[in-house]
Amino acid sequence: MKLSNTFLAFSIFLTAISPMSAISKTTETYTLVIHGGAGTLLKKDMTIQKEKEYKAVLNQALIKGYDVLKNKGTSLDAVEAAIKVMEDSPLFNAGKGAVFTHEETNELDASIMDGKTLKAGAVAGVKTVKNPITAARIVMEKSPHVMMTGKGADEYAKSKGAEIVDPSYFYTEHRYKALKKIQESEKLELDHNSKKKSDLNNKKNSYSYDKKFGTVGAVALDIYGNLAAGTSTGGMTNKRFGRVGDSPIIGAGTYANNDTCAVSATGHGEFFIRSVVSHDISALMEYKGLSVDKASQEVVMKKLVKLGGEGGVIALDRNGNISMTFNSEGMYRGYIKSDGKANVFIYK
Ligand code: ASP
Repeated sequence: MKLSNTFLAFSIFLTAISPMSAISKTTETYTLVIHGGAGTLLKKDMTIQKEKEYKAVLNQALIKGYDVLKNKGTSLDAVEAAIKVMEDSPLFNAGKGAVFTHEETNELDASIMDGKTLKAGAVAGVKTVKNPITAARIVMEKSPHVMMTGKGADEYAKSKGAEIVDPSYFYTEHRYKALKKIQESEKLELDHNSKKKSDLNNKKNSYSYDKKFGTVGAVALDIYGNLAAGTSTGGMTNKRFGRVGDSPIIGAGTYANNDTCAVSATGHGEFFIRSVVSHDISALMEYKGLSVDKASQEVVMKKLVKLGGEGGVIALDRNGNISMTFNSEGMYRGYIKSDGKANVFIYK
């Protein structure tokens, strides 16, 4: 007994003087959660082929981010890597597949946040940056600012080495057709086409009712215990006058804080801004002690619904607990943990 006590005391002493104790702790657990937008996603409206294509890109994004985390990369690297995969796909309303503005241009928004330092970066209305999420990260890491807009943001990203493309890179036929269709009715639309004509006619000059939000986002927890979140979008079809949604707004579309959670949102941006969705979820955890899922439910299923806002969030806490909550018909979403098994979902 006496001997084991002495041994214990000696081990504690050794641990205390060991240089290892100065190295920050790592764990073998890590998690990545992604979304590719929420909205009126019904199985009956989807072809087997389309569903396969969406799932393939979601899987690819998960694997890309997983590789980063597995190789001891940071949550910020994983978030950026996963989002870039979806930005490079024409399927999602971000990067390559961005929707058209009223003026037949593509104006992209993105933001990123580091849960460890609470540093954040965002760009809005960029037209030439191939991967707006990278531009957002450049703003966070290389400038003293949080948000840059328009031409200035494009120029700054270029000066710091972001990949620049001709605006025609963002042309996709299906998005252009969607614009032409919606221009006839002079409405704004969130991603794809409206189907419920009766609802549309009743809601003159408002948003369409049958919505799909193809915005993309990711939240991650790395082996160092750090959280990060990012979101990227083309915004709304037929948007005008420099309209900016929630995606590049820290606290609305994106938020990360190691003390609480990392959140990325998708949905009808105006409502998400007014509800300060992402920060609200964090605040419910911080001030009321709610779990990440309870907090997400509270904001997405109650607060947003009361206001009439449609969409969803992905959220992740520092213990790897996940919430993928949406009040719409579906949300392209998925997660992967340290075991490397990718899980993707579309419908409720
Ligand atoms: N939240 C985005 C916006 O309002 C749209 C989306 O999620 O697809 O710009």
